[in-house]
Amino acid sequence: MKIFKGISASAGITIGKVFLYLDDNLKVPKYRISSEEISSEMDRFRLATKKVEEDLIKIQSHASKHQLEEESRFLDSHMLMLTDPEFIKQIEENLRSFNRNIEWVLLMTVKQFISTLKKADSPYLVERTVDLYDVTQRIHRHLLFREKISLADIEHEVVVVTHNLMPSDTATMNRKMVKGLVLNAGGKTSHTAILARAFGIPSVLGLTDITDEARSGDAIIVDGNSGTVILNPDNDTLIEYNKRAQKWLQHEKHLNKINKLSSVTLDGQRVLLSANIEMPEEVEQVLSHGADGIGLFRSEFLFLKPSGFSSEDDQYAAYSEVVSKMKDNGGVTIRTLDVGGDKIIPDFETIDEKNPLLGWRAIRFCLNRKDTFKVQMRALRRASMNGVLRIMFPMISGVEELEDALDFLEETKEELRNEGIPFDENIRVGIMIEVPSAAITSDILAKKVDFFSIGTNDLIQYTVAVDRGNENIAYLYKYFHPGVLRLIKTVIDHAHDAGIPVAMCGEMAGDPLASVVLLGMGLDAFSMSSSVLPSVKEILRSVRMDEAEKLVAEVMKMSSFQKIEDYVSGWMNERFDDISV
Ligand code: PEP
Ligand code: MG
Repeated sequence: MKIFKGISASAGITIGKVFLYLDDNLKVPKYRISSEEISSEMDRFRLATKKVEEDLIKIQSHASKHQLEEESRFLDSHMLMLTDPEFIKQIEENLRSFNRNIEWVLLMTVKQFISTLKKADSPYLVERTVDLYDVTQRIHRHLLFREKISLADIEHEVVVVTHNLMPSDTATMNRKMVKGLVLNAGGKTSHTAILARAFGIPSVLGLTDITDEARSGDAIIVDGNSGTVILNPDNDTLIEYNKRAQKWLQHEKHLNKINKLSSVTLDGQRVLLSANIEMPEEVEQVLSHGADGIGLFRSEFLFLKPSGFSSEDDQYAAYSEVVSKMKDNGGVTIRTLDVGGDKIIPDFETIDEKNPLLGWRAIRFCLNRKDTFKVQMRALRRASMNGVLRIMFPMISGVEELEDALDFLEETKEELRNEGIPFDENIRVGIMIEVPSAAITSDILAKKVDFFSIGTNDLIQYTVAVDRGNENIAYLYKYFHPGVLRLIKTVIDHAHDAGIPVAMCGEMAGDPLASVVLLGMGLDAFSMSSSVLPSVKEILRSVRMDEAEKLVAEVMKMSSFQKIEDYVSGWMNERFDDISV
């Protein structure tokens, strides 16, 4: 049994089997084995080589059907290598002398063979090194359970253990079968973490090197509540975690009862609690959680799939579906394409950037690629006829950028009018406040838009200069940093001075620990993954505005995130029995 501590990214407890998902650039895992395990490691090796043999036979028969026997002759030598008694004997000897797993021993043995071949001074033998590597890679694929490269193809219930996942991998994986996610990399507000929460998959990130320890098929416990992962748990631990999983289910049932209640404080202040979504399929969950509308539809996820770019009609269909389902439920705020950074559209044009998070992303990309932007604007305007649709621009850093985006939006109005295509003439337009310069100048920006939504995920990253996906500096990524809290307060006050509402759609809005502070600051609307909505609602329904304002007054006098975090945790723990369960 081995216990790992990481960043808890999505709540819930899963007990299951590891699916080690490694891309080809990853190093082969290396771990110690006992002498009793040598024969089972040898069995794994034989099984894997058998499978490679079957693969090679299939390739050869395909080749002969297509008159390619000559070209595939090299596979004969691959076959011979698989059964070469010298090679197999060396593998077994090395397993005994190194006491390491078969994947690593195989690599070492092949390296030994290759260095001998290179010394032979024969061009023919030197060429054979390529074949050796090729066969080794095939065996590794089977040993590491890599036959199914795409997470979309997973057919059994598994816990995916991997180095890192691109948002596009997470978005397209088979969500019915992935029961847990465990990653070496990542932070709480990385897009993979956000998606895991949206899909309700218990997840622990930032584990650094768990891929070196886990093997496909190992038993694993993922406790997304505490950020704990246990590999090959003993019996007592399994019993304990089965109990905890039951308790968690009870807790979820209790929270489900809250879905039907309205979000209003003890003294009658109505607070809007809306949902964040990435895909249209999430709307059912939004409705069942009783959200006050959708406060953030991350439209870029329509693009982060293997087919890449999304046409005007495809986008129109997706937006219309969401907007019509939410017609009588608070409407939908759709954020325009926020690509770049870690969100790369497969097969779409990208540029090589030293600092992608500070680079060609979001509104900068759209204002530069107006053909793409135009398609989205038209689809959005057309879909506005199906309900209440609001448009929101991401990553606005100043007034010029905002004016350019607004002018462009105006142009599409003219275009559609000329074409006689109907659309809502009064679409409300807002911006995300997620760049410090926008927060500081929010008094100027507020005069030009209908609403603000604070994107704390990026706002914190840019204010504290901490990459939100980097596990090594995650300890500095703090929304209770006085600098961050001052910016948030400034934005709320500026919005209210200008008479516009202000929401928050970053992950801070969905953290129960922050909810009373944000309420006391005067935030009008909180937007979050549906799965965390009931926990926040339960808290907001149990406090009064005056006590929330008093808490904020205390907090704003404090000098460090640690002091604030300790004070707020103390306050919340005294007020609520157990806010995190
Ligand atoms: C944010 O930055 O807070 C936000 C909501 O946008 P995203 O997480 O998609 O960058
Ligand atoms: Mg953002």
